[in-house]
Amino acid sequence: MQPTGTFGASRYAIGDLDLFRGAATPAVAAELANCTIVRVAKGDQVQEGLRARLYIVLAGALGVEASWSVGDDRLEHILPGESVGEQSVLDEAANLAAMVALEDTELLVIEPDLVWQLIERHHGVARNMLRLLSFRIRAANALLRRRQKLGEFYRQLSFNDGLTGLYNRAWLNDMLPRLVARARQDGAALSLVMIDLDHFKRFNDTHGHLAGDGALCAAAGALRAGLRPTDYAVRYGGEEMAAILPDTSRELAMAVAQRLCLRLRETVVFDDMRLPLPHITGSFGVATLAPGQDERALVTAADAALYRAKEAGRDRIGI
Ligand code: GH3
Ligand code: MG
Ligand code: MG
Repeated sequence: MQPTGTFGASRYAIGDLDLFRGAATPAVAAELANCTIVRVAKGDQVQEGLRARLYIVLAGALGVEASWSVGDDRLEHILPGESVGEQSVLDEAANLAAMVALEDTELLVIEPDLVWQLIERHHGVARNMLRLLSFRIRAANALLRRRQKLGEFYRQLSFNDGLTGLYNRAWLNDMLPRLVARARQDGAALSLVMIDLDHFKRFNDTHGHLAGDGALCAAAGALRAGLRPTDYAVRYGGEEMAAILPDTSRELAMAVAQRLCLRLRETVVFDDMRLPLPHITGSFGVATLAPGQDERALVTAADAALYRAKEAGRDRIGI
């Protein structure tokens, strides 16, 4: 249907407005005839009455600030033909969003009673209103999904160590109790290997902290490469790392620790052949979950074994 007529003395065609597209009958035009048109200067807020009303932008642009929105999504732009406030009218909730004119703007104001009257009397308007609400729901859902993904991204960041990419202490604090509980429930074995790089202060003093960082990354790489996909490599803090080995008996865990110790010794820290090859070694402590032990007891046991490895001369597994 072609736009028929304007409302009141205005120069705007009703059929150009989203809500009345294909529904701009003379009867609708007659009902809109007494609606007010307000002009809002650029930068000014739209002054809302106590009752929510429906606004249709005739010219200019409105910025609607949604209270639940942050960052770039903060201002939704409402352009000519589009409306704002229909949801508040329908559920009779106050329109809490601040509205500001982004340009000199003209708005058609439709009072709630008239909105309902239009919906009840004109199927075309009712259909357009449903379509409009559907778009809004879809947009809100898309926004929520984006947020969810972003939240997941930051969650990942907060559980990974920035330097080595291994899981960090926060992850360990969160996951170790769960892994212990699961092992208990399933009656499965669970082993923990604690690793502390040897004389790492000296390494830093000799080669500098940047080289130290590189060595830490190389050690983390060796750790990752020496584990099965079902194991977890964690940077416990500083130059201390840990490996969590689900379904792994003490004997097997000792063998894994031996392999890691060897791999660490053979790790090439610098690819630059002109540099003398500094190598890194580590001391290892192994503990396997015993009946009645919780995650703290498991860490303490692995720590004690690691201490024995240091005492016995480093670059070895504590026994
Ligand atoms: P030990 O064999 O007894 O473990 O001696 P150590 O020197 O390794 O132990 P100590 O605890 O005295 O020193 C740990 C060193 O690890 C000191 C600290 O500067 C270094 N370190 C910890 N975190 C980092 C890091 O992120 N980067 C670098 N480059 N060094 C780190
Ligand atoms: Mg240490
Ligand atoms: Mg150390």
